[in-house]
Amino acid sequence: MGKRWSCKSTAENLLAQAKTKVAALGERGIQPHLAVVLVGEDPASKVYVSNKIRTCESLGIKSTFHKLEADTDTDALLAVVDELNRDTKVHGILVQLPLPKQIDESRIIAAIEPDKDVDGFHPVNVGRLSLGEPGLFPCTPMGVIALLRQSGHSLSGKHAVVVGRSNIVGKPMAQLLLKENCTVSIIHSRTQNPAELCRQADIVVAAVGRPGLVDADWIKPGALVVDVGINEITDRAQAENLIPADSKKMKAFNEKGRVLYGDVHYFSCLDKAELVTPVPGGIGRLTIAHLMVNCVAAAELQQ
Ligand code: NDP
Repeated sequence: MGKRWSCKSTAENLLAQAKTKVAALGERGIQPHLAVVLVGEDPASKVYVSNKIRTCESLGIKSTFHKLEADTDTDALLAVVDELNRDTKVHGILVQLPLPKQIDESRIIAAIEPDKDVDGFHPVNVGRLSLGEPGLFPCTPMGVIALLRQSGHSLSGKHAVVVGRSNIVGKPMAQLLLKENCTVSIIHSRTQNPAELCRQADIVVAAVGRPGLVDADWIKPGALVVDVGINEITDRAQAENLIPADSKKMKAFNEKGRVLYGDVHYFSCLDKAELVTPVPGGIGRLTIAHLMVNCVAAAELQQ
């Protein structure tokens, strides 16, 4: 029987690391400054943005919030990014994704000054990661690496399987695991026999957006399982399929009619894996903590 893999102490370590550097920069008269841009009214994005701003405040990182109307077009958003790029008092720029459909997301990402790109999505930072050069790298996969390192397990030579190949999680995750000397496989929607491939993994990172896709049949006994997925479940039949009737999570579903669930079938995988991260309260907190590390790194880069 495996264990719930708490991400709390890794997140606290990342935040403490950022706080120490904020203090060191403060002694030189520099306060890291993050500009957060939100376009539209997406409720999940609003929650993410307010969590990020609150965490900045708790560490002494200055944040400014730029709220734009839902019908903003690409050129108008490019003008905001350009202004923030030229503002020497702003060290980090975060444009909250996803953007409304009328905006060309890749043009916006490419317009952010790479050394202010705290999300690590700019093509220059993607290239730096791929080449093994220093840069700002995506917060979720960086948080996962911090968790794996802190686990005390050796990563070198281990077979890591990443489920999902998005630009923001799957691909950078695979690059970072490769950098740790793992042997890396990537599963995507066209992969044949994904469960068979995944069963060979010592480390599984699931970032798919499909609740409970990775179940016990995908897991080798003793594997380390990281669940990046955040999905809202509102369908009772689906909830009953994923969540034991007598669990706290089912109680929460019964009370609220909705619950957050990851891409890993948590309760079945616990029987086989050594460690499984929970959702919520798992990788999400590492993502925000690593964003703070990137804000400080961006401020340092610009000195
Ligand atoms: P995307 O939708 O951009 O990518 C999903 C990936 O999963 C794609 O590569 C897709 O393959 C693959 N996929 C879809 N269905 C299957 C399947 N049946 N079998 C195998 N692979 C499949 O998602 P993101 O990477 O942006 O996000 C993934 C999850 O992580 C979401 O739940 C999201 O909410 C969550 N997330 C959580 C974060 C956190 O802080 N914890 C941060 C970012 C995301 P293909 O390329 O072939 O289409």
